[in-house]
Amino acid sequence: MKISIAGTGYVGLVTAVCLAEIGHNVTCVDIDEKKIGILNEGRSPIYEPGLEELMVKNKERLTFTTDYKNAYKDTDVIFIAVGTPEKKDGSANLQYVFGVTKQIAESIQQDCIIVVKSTVPVGTNDKVERVLRENLKKDVHVEVASNPEFLSQGTAVKDTLNANRIVIGVETKYAEEVLRKVYDGFGLPYVITDRRSAEMIKYASNDFLALKISYINEIANLCEIVGANIEDVAKGMGMDPRIGDKFLKAGIGYGGSCFPKDTKALNWLANFNDYELKTIKAAIEVNENQKIKLIKKARKYYDNFSGLNVAVLGLTFKPGTDDLREAPSLQNIPILLEDGANIKAWDPVGIENYKKIYPKEIKYCNTIEETIKGADICFIFTEWPEINKFDISLFSKLMKYPLILDGRNCYDLEKVKKAKIIYESVGRNTVN
Ligand code: NAD
Repeated sequence: MKISIAGTGYVGLVTAVCLAEIGHNVTCVDIDEKKIGILNEGRSPIYEPGLEELMVKNKERLTFTTDYKNAYKDTDVIFIAVGTPEKKDGSANLQYVFGVTKQIAESIQQDCIIVVKSTVPVGTNDKVERVLRENLKKDVHVEVASNPEFLSQGTAVKDTLNANRIVIGVETKYAEEVLRKVYDGFGLPYVITDRRSAEMIKYASNDFLALKISYINEIANLCEIVGANIEDVAKGMGMDPRIGDKFLKAGIGYGGSCFPKDTKALNWLANFNDYELKTIKAAIEVNENQKIKLIKKARKYYDNFSGLNVAVLGLTFKPGTDDLREAPSLQNIPILLEDGANIKAWDPVGIENYKKIYPKEIKYCNTIEETIKGADICFIFTEWPEINKFDISLFSKLMKYPLILDGRNCYDLEKVKKAKIIYESVGRNTVN
């Protein structure tokens, strides 16, 4: 099958490489010449475990180009995997989706199926179909199908090859059959539905996970007040299969390119349709407060951070990715800098992207030891395995004042008690 994919971001590139792995020929299109240049050198422009290796392995079946006209003209299936970022009012910005739709309409010269993989509000597939038909240059048969993506950054390749389900939203049997041909090689279960339900499945799933995180974070906040331990509480809850043990990790809130924007977009859609989505509104509000929880805790020790040596461990929104979108570090570091703190930061893969935002304001370090040396306070924003495995006795040995504010509950409280540090985490007692 001949497949083209518009957008070589986390979703487009991973999908392309995994489809190539099951034998398809895939042309990846992007408007970003730099990304295409890197891809044509056999490198991945994003950090995603296993991606580059699989890309190199399947290089015979993968093409990377900015020449969309050629890429779309004679292909069986075109996936749209461009970004749908948040607009100021919280709604989804669909300019890239409609932009690429017009490019596709102008280019195709044979019958094909256009598959919307980007996360889009309910009703967008209908609009994509309308824009396509309005701009078609040739008399060809096109159909639009919804096929939302559920991969998580950091485990994207694994998630795609072993997805729990492939959701396909179609209006005709023909579109369903074509998409089955695309995906059958994975041997995964399908959910076949109409386009609007498929679009809703994506938002409802993401927002449920965001809600679960905000729920456990609120319980954690209450645990701190009433003297309970959130780790034990979450364990006790998670063993109930009706609840499940995933997404019950308390911390300083969710970030990333999906949960923040997808909660806001669904909330916006509800408002637009004169419905108040109370649970999602609460999830958003809880998360906003949670992100600056550590700064609030730190104020108990220091009125302001002026002149303090601050160590920051973890910059990305979660481990396993170099993505900084909506990372809690981006909410906290500006506050610290504004106060006049001297910041040293460590992250195994996020530093290059961070340097694009803060080229000079932060001293970037290669090791955790170097970062915490001489620090008056240390913030942990991301639970990288290197931080989890770090010898905590070194905090008191290397820091000027061993105050650790851990936003990801990286350490066992019993071990912390022996380490002669002052340790604040989320939903657990302070150790000092
Ligand atoms: P991204 O920002 O990493 O990549 C989008 C890419 O599209 C960019 O490389 C951009 O240059 C390219 N692009 C824009 N206009 C184009 C055009 N006209 N033609 C070709 N390329 C074009 O985005 P992403 O994180 O991969 O997300 C893509 C979509 O998938 C979004 O709707 C997102 O909500 C959804 N999604 C993302 C994830 C995730 O974990 N990142 C998971 C599931 C779903």
